[in-house]
Amino acid sequence: MSTFKAIRIDKDEQGYRVAPAQFRDEDLMDGDVTVRVSHSTINYKDGLAVTGKSPVVRRFPMIPGIDFAGVVESSSNPDFKPGDAVVLNGWGVGETHLGGLAQRARVKGDWLIPLPAGLSAEQAMAIGTAGYTAMLSVMALEKHGAKPADGPVVVTGAAGGVGSVAVSLLASAGWKVIASTGRPNEAGFLTDLGAAEIIDRAELSSPGRPLGKERWAAGVDSVGSHTLANVLAQTKYGGAVAACGLAQGMDLPASVAPFILRGVSLLGVDSVMAPKARRLEAWSRLARDLDKARLAALTSVIPFDRAIQAAGLILEGKIRGRVVVEIG
Ligand code: NDP
Repeated sequence: MSTFKAIRIDKDEQGYRVAPAQFRDEDLMDGDVTVRVSHSTINYKDGLAVTGKSPVVRRFPMIPGIDFAGVVESSSNPDFKPGDAVVLNGWGVGETHLGGLAQRARVKGDWLIPLPAGLSAEQAMAIGTAGYTAMLSVMALEKHGAKPADGPVVVTGAAGGVGSVAVSLLASAGWKVIASTGRPNEAGFLTDLGAAEIIDRAELSSPGRPLGKERWAAGVDSVGSHTLANVLAQTKYGGAVAACGLAQGMDLPASVAPFILRGVSLLGVDSVMAPKARRLEAWSRLARDLDKARLAALTSVIPFDRAIQAAGLILEGKIRGRVVVEIG
């Protein structure tokens, strides 16, 4: 019998509890590939899972961690063999299926992608679901036909995980990036990632008018609520906004004015159930287009025993950029 360490979430009559624990191999759930996890990460959803602030965990006990990178230990899936380096994002892992903040994970091979050439496991987790969602958002804008010549792009929640990777990707692609943040002390960080202009998120986070001055041609919004409504109201004629997050709220107190008077498009972005072909495209674009020095600049690496604390901090908006967890 083999055991491995993991973070364990329980919910019972004693309440919602989270702590490091030992699991046995036979505790792992169904799957045809077993992975020795070397790195995981802390996403906003991991913060919700670990704190229990939102009911994202649907099975107990649970191991949180919606992302992992590691090496295949055993496989009955024809696409993967022992020794292959792999990455997982989403598919309910860390929510309904035991997750990545563990030394071992067993999943369906269909959920895995090969570690993209040119990226280490640590870099893949520095990107994680947040960075892969930033790339899905950029791809959604491109599919719409948005291009840097149309005007600036606004990124909300800019100092967070999705936002910081989006700023870097869009700046590298030639966009003039307007970064919206509630952390003015991170202006230098955002400028180094390529932001051309920093605005205070307070400009966007309160109830606004149905239509405002046309300020940007495109947007990547990880915040939702009034912020998304105001981003839409200030998008230029024919522009588009990719909506991927809800850090301010799940509501959308907007009017139809930007859609029917300015032909603005709202593009929904989901990473969790995105089909494999789109994932592979996003990851190959990330490996190719994301500036590695900027990725390093927006990443902090923490040991396994600080993961629970980091999960609490992300919900308080106190994590800058991305956090990689070394499983060890
Ligand atoms: P982070 O916590 O790293 O970033 C969120 C950022 O949002 C914060 O850093 C902060 O940016 C800003 N923010 C936080 N609270 C508020 C508020 N009350 N009002 C306005 N702005 C706020 O999280 P992630 O980047 O990992 O995730 C961002 C969002 O995207 C989350 O809601 C997450 O659930 C969602 N998401 C969705 C995915 C999908 O598949 N659609 C995949 C991944 C994430 P600043 O300090 O710069 O103001």
